[in-house]
Amino acid sequence: MKARVLVQREESCLLPYDRNNVFARILRGELPCQKVYEDQFALAFHDIHPLAPVHVLVIPKGEYVSNADFSANAPAQLIVGFWRAVGAIARQLGLEEQGYRLVANHGPNGGQLVFHFHVHLFGGRQMSHRMGNMPRPDDK
Ligand code: AMP
Repeated sequence: MKARVLVQREESCLLPYDRNNVFARILRGELPCQKVYEDQFALAFHDIHPLAPVHVLVIPKGEYVSNADFSANAPAQLIVGFWRAVGAIARQLGLEEQGYRLVANHGPNGGQLVFHFHVHLFGGRQMSHRMGNMPRPDDK
């Protein structure tokens, strides 16, 4: 019999997971998305308000509020699978040679708006070296 991985959720997560957040609904197929990649661990789609020529969101297939939740509570297999998918997506989009930027917002100071853990993948142009200056809508 296959061993079940039981993961104890820590009480330190700031918010409970809301199963009706927009990315949960996309994962369930209730809302459309412009899909660029999918495997058993992750789904990736174009951001509806792109801040760079390439702006893709990668989300894990699991109910995690943010990186604080995902990194503490997701099974190791999902964490590895998710990050391998992020790398594969960047490769698939042809971004490896020129480079790209990954961003994951957590909580109010991070500016998080959607409370399903996700990584923004930006590419297609030179990013600012000043990390405080993230891509802006007029920055294309
Ligand atoms: P944040 O939570 O601040 O890291 O960012 C959430 C991102 O999700 C924003 O860049 C939004 O433009 C994007 N977003 C929100 N709703 C959708 C949607 N239905 N499809 C694609 N991207 C979305």
